[in-house]
Amino acid sequence: MLDLFYDDTHRALRDSAQRWVDHHITPNASAWEEAGAFPTSLIRQAGQAGLLSAVYPEHLGGAGGDIFHALIVAEALVRGGSVGTAMGLGSHAIALPPILALGTPQQQQRFVPPVLRGERVACLAITEAGAGSDVAGIRTRAVRQGDHYVINGSKTFITSGQRADLVTLAVRTQGDPDDPATRHQGISLIVVEAGTPGFTTGRPLQKMGWWASDTAELFFEDCAVPAENLLGDEGAGFVGIMANFVSERLLLAASAVATARLALDDTRRYIAQRHAFGRPLEGFQVTRHRLAELCTLEAQARAFVATVAQRHRLGQDVSAEVAMAKNAAVKACASVCDGAVQLHGGMGYMRECRIERLFRDQRLFAIGGGTTEIMNEVIWSRALARG
Ligand SMILES: Cc1cc2nc3c(=O)[nH]c(=O)nc-3n(C[C@H](O)[C@H](O)[C@H](O)COP(=O)(O)OP(=O)(O)OC[C@H]3O[C@@H](n4cnc5c(N)ncnc54)[C@H](O)[C@@H]3O)c2cc1C
Repeated sequence: MLDLFYDDTHRALRDSAQRWVDHHITPNASAWEEAGAFPTSLIRQAGQAGLLSAVYPEHLGGAGGDIFHALIVAEALVRGGSVGTAMGLGSHAIALPPILALGTPQQQQRFVPPVLRGERVACLAITEAGAGSDVAGIRTRAVRQGDHYVINGSKTFITSGQRADLVTLAVRTQGDPDDPATRHQGISLIVVEAGTPGFTTGRPLQKMGWWASDTAELFFEDCAVPAENLLGDEGAGFVGIMANFVSERLLLAASAVATARLALDDTRRYIAQRHAFGRPLEGFQVTRHRLAELCTLEAQARAFVATVAQRHRLGQDVSAEVAMAKNAAVKACASVCDGAVQLHGGMGYMRECRIERLFRDQRLFAIGGGTTEIMNEVIWSRALARG
């Protein structure tokens, strides 16, 4: 279990994060999902509660925690019952690591602390209409003109894109996406602040799940950004993007495990109170065994994610294992949510039932943060191709 590796600070954070979520998210989750948004004030409240800063360095306003502190917060937020709210609150977790990996101390001091306090919102924008898995295909271009970069292009599917005050943006400063010899060169990261002339956002995108999260298109038209906002050198973008891989995939894996756990808890309660043929559903052995199988899937995934996280904490290279853990957790979560709908019968198909939402919300775990197929490519190239 995840908590095998916990110390007292982890247990204290788990309890306080869960209390905060029970109070601030759970009672409102359904309303925010139906409204398609959670209030921006929640971000400030989460910052004040220390839920955005657990793993960041103390000199930037963080608590200096480790990967388990991050996973604990991710799991607690998902248990609020709106994965969209959890992901909206968590968009900084993919936007800030490139700033920590590549940014100067001045850039870090300028951009990071206000986000950890919940005063500003950060997002990461890599995906374009023509380039998702294939990051080297991006076409948004930044051209140096004096002390600015002038940016033209667009991004899509960006979590917190509409409310973000700062965007960690992947741009092309060199190379040609259509030229195999140069397409991997010249990917850079630059921070663009909301309000910069030439930067606009599109309408909210309508989604299968994660309704409460804001998912946006971003447009850049002759958008002049100070050159001092470039993170690292020109062409260092891949390094910054890779800075996210392990933690982002572990966070998504932990979120998938948490979603599965929530679905199991709801189902356990449902089969105890729902009656058919004169007995509660849990009176049927087939129902009990089905739930036992689903619980086993969740426990396996939880243990695997925890083990990989622990190895990461110890400084081991887990690039292949984290891809395995993400795929395993996502698959377990999908099976659990499907089984949970089935055990709820018609009620599992109703919008008023949380299982219906979890079933929709879990689908993205196999796509975001690297698809299942891309994870398999990583596993092949890192763990299998070398024999
Ligand atoms: C709700 C939501 C939120 C998101 N948030 C963000 C965000 O905050 N920031 C951001 O930058 N992006 C974000 N994304 C984008 C997400 O990261 C991409 O959707 C994802 O990486 C897949 O890219 P794609 O959609 O272009 O699919 P594609 O890359 O077009 O993939 C389509 C299919 O082809 C498969 N495929 C692609 N290449 C290969 C290959 N080499 N071998 C085998 N199969 C392959 C894929 O696995 C997939 O099944 C978000 C997406 C969604 C839906």
